[in-house]
Amino acid sequence: MIFLEQHCPCKSMKRYEDCCLPILNDEKPALNCEQLMRSRYTAYCVNNFEYIVNTYSLRARNEQNISVDFIKHQAASTKWLHLNVVNSHETSVEFKAFYQDGRAIYCLHELSYFVQENGKWRYDNGDLLGTTGKLKTGRNEACFCDSGKKFKHCCM
Ligand SMILES: [Zn+2]
Ligand SMILES: [Zn+2]
Repeated sequence: MIFLEQHCPCKSMKRYEDCCLPILNDEKPALNCEQLMRSRYTAYCVNNFEYIVNTYSLRARNEQNISVDFIKHQAASTKWLHLNVVNSHETSVEFKAFYQDGRAIYCLHELSYFVQENGKWRYDNGDLLGTTGKLKTGRNEACFCDSGKKFKHCCM
């Protein structure tokens, strides 16, 4: 997949090869749960479903029967637009991820919990927070990502 800009899909403003790419390629570990969370968001952006499955905790994988087909099906009609990390703690990250499904834009506002297995960070579970849901974003309205630009000139 080719990106028009060199920035990482996780919107860190770092270059892709200095951010999530070496983590996705297993050349570097995620040093904290925010890095793992960002790399999982990026994996959704680049359709690397295996990485998403592999970075669930064993408990979550067994209890929820998570497979590549399951993730692929879940992500089929979703186009990821933007990520804001709201708060980052030692074992949890609060974030807002924005995505498009059909013509509607949605916000996924989640507090995610992480565990370490064999020294590697893994996603365990998450709680959906208040502003999760459909957004009313007109083409000429301010973009949801707080850039100050109109939506049509920004994340659309
Ligand atoms: Zn990144
Ligand atoms: Zn935007």
